[in-house]
Amino acid sequence: MTSTSAHATQTVRLCHLYPSLMNIYADRGNISVIARRLQWRGFGLAIDEVGLGDDLAPDAHDLYYLGGGQDRDQNLVAADLITKASVLRGAADNGAAQLYVCGGIQLAGHGYETVDGQYLEGTGVLDLDTVAGDTRLTGDLVIRADLDGDDVTIVGYENHAGRTYLGTAVDPLGRVVSGHGNNGTDRLEGARRDHVIGTYLHGPLLPRNPVVADLLLTWALEHRYGSTELRPLDDTLELSAHAVAIERAGQAR
Ligand code: GLN
Repeated sequence: MTSTSAHATQTVRLCHLYPSLMNIYADRGNISVIARRLQWRGFGLAIDEVGLGDDLAPDAHDLYYLGGGQDRDQNLVAADLITKASVLRGAADNGAAQLYVCGGIQLAGHGYETVDGQYLEGTGVLDLDTVAGDTRLTGDLVIRADLDGDDVTIVGYENHAGRTYLGTAVDPLGRVVSGHGNNGTDRLEGARRDHVIGTYLHGPLLPRNPVVADLLLTWALEHRYGSTELRPLDDTLELSAHAVAIERAGQAR
C-alpha cells in the first residue's frame, strides 16, 4: 500500500486493479490526478495495488479503478478478475465509486468476445456486452453527459476493436458529439449505474476532465464519511487542455 498526506484527517481508500497489466495510453495518469486533487484539498489517499492472485477484501475501498489494456493483457487478467467479481458488485451496490476505462469497461460487463473469437467473461458490475469488430474505432472523442444534473462535455481519445452494447440496467455515460463511442452506431458512450462509470475515453481521462475527477472523489468521500463538499480548485490549465481537445476533435471531423 502507498499513502499520501499522512497527516490528513480524512483518507480515501483506492483499489487500483492490475496496475502493471491494464495501463494502456498512460491510464495510470488518472491515479496521479486523484492523488493530487485530494492532496490539494488536504485529504489523504491510501492506494492498494491489487494484481493477479491478490485477495480483494470486501468493503475495504471507497474507489476502484481498472484501466485499459490490449486483448493479450485482458486475457491474462479476466480469469483472475472474475474471482473478485462478487466483491466488486457488492461494492457497487454499496455506493463505492468505480471507474473502468476501455478494456476495463469491457471486463466490467458480462463479457468480451475478442477478435480471435475468445470469450472473456466479465464481472457483471455493468449490464453490457462487448464483441470485437474487424476494424478499430480510433481518434478524438467528445461526448456530452449529464453528471448528476450538470450538463458537461467530456473529452479524450479512443482506440478499441470492441463494440459495446448497453443493457437496460445501465445508462450511457453520455452521447457522442464527435468520434465513435461504444460501438460506432448508436452514438452512446460509456455506461453508468450508481457510482460506477465505464468509458472508452483514454487520454488519460481525468487530467483534462476535472469535473469527472471531482465527481468520483465526491462519491468516494461520501462512501467513507457521508456527504462532502469539495473546495473548488484553480483548473485553468486543465480546462485549457480540455478546450484544445474539443478544438482538435472539431478539426478532425
Ligand atoms: N483490447 C480492447 C479493444 O481493442 C481494449 C483496448 C483498450 O483498452 N484501448 O477493444
